[in-house]
Amino acid sequence: MTRYMNQCTCFILPKDVLERLAGDKKLDAALRKAARDSALISDAIRGLRLKNAELTGIAQSVGAHLVELAASPDVAVYNSKNTQNLPGSLVAKPNTSKDNTAKRCFTETTSVAKFYKSVFGRNSIDNAGMTLLSSIHYGSRYNNAMWNGSQMIYGDGDGQLFTDFTGGNDVIGHELTHGVTQHTLQLGYSGDAGGLNESMSDCFGSMFRQWEAGQDVTKADWLIGANIIGPAAAARGYKCLRNMANPADKSALAAQPVLYSQITPGMDPHYSSGPPNLAFATASLTLGGKSWERVGQIWYAALTTSGANPNMTIPQFAARTRQIAAQMYAQQADVGAAVDAGWKKIGL
Ligand SMILES: [Zn+2]
Repeated sequence: MTRYMNQCTCFILPKDVLERLAGDKKLDAALRKAARDSALISDAIRGLRLKNAELTGIAQSVGAHLVELAASPDVAVYNSKNTQNLPGSLVAKPNTSKDNTAKRCFTETTSVAKFYKSVFGRNSIDNAGMTLLSSIHYGSRYNNAMWNGSQMIYGDGDGQLFTDFTGGNDVIGHELTHGVTQHTLQLGYSGDAGGLNESMSDCFGSMFRQWEAGQDVTKADWLIGANIIGPAAAARGYKCLRNMANPADKSALAAQPVLYSQITPGMDPHYSSGPPNLAFATASLTLGGKSWERVGQIWYAALTTSGANPNMTIPQFAARTRQIAAQMYAQQADVGAAVDAGWKKIGL
């Protein structure tokens, strides 16, 4: 059963950031409480994820995924109404809702589905039209967003450290990509595989953000979570959660290691994702153009064409992308060279 023991917590924010903020005496008591409560709830949700991933693995092994549910996914938005109730109550017409969070969640989730379909030919998370279910207004002042193994969950944030988590299109792309990973490589959530799991979500979340803006790699900000940083965090000099092109950036709330050799045993996947994030950003910037057109295609093929590989290491993933680049772009030597430059940047 070990191949299904995928303990992905799959939050956008690592736990230690919430714990650090909860213990920061310079912040007012209400903000510290919101951070502490968010860390506790995030812990409790972790258990749900394990069982959902196990079910996905078993369903795939019996071929249940071969049946398509719909030609394109339904997008359903539920409202938890600031409780921990899941999924909450269905929002009847989210696309015309007066609640901006509902409207944005529907619009951006639909857009992620379109991104996966038009850029990669993928029909929803499972490539079989799976309904994309989201719950908004989860908890009270809840500082996180997550994929729990079967649906997306978004908190409103406390309004000071973090704002509404649906406000980041990269956050929405990140969470949905955890679902894609669950249905493809089925990466675990510790060691190298955990870092790769988080990195896949950042790479596709960032690509989605760039695709929506029609941006060239040089125009992209390569930041994760820039739109959910609240005024109190901004006042302290923070501008994002992570910076893919500069993982050690001090203005990132969760600055990361840069080199593969700096990853240590037991490191939270939100930190070990730094080096593979930098490899992707470097390969994309070296090649130029639109990230999703060539480098993104290689990363997608590496994610989706190897079958399940829950314990995949970062060097194995690097080797796979080099191999795919050579096959897919045999006539374009600059593509392989760019991918190579990406991995060399982190020491691989
Ligand atoms: Zn994540």
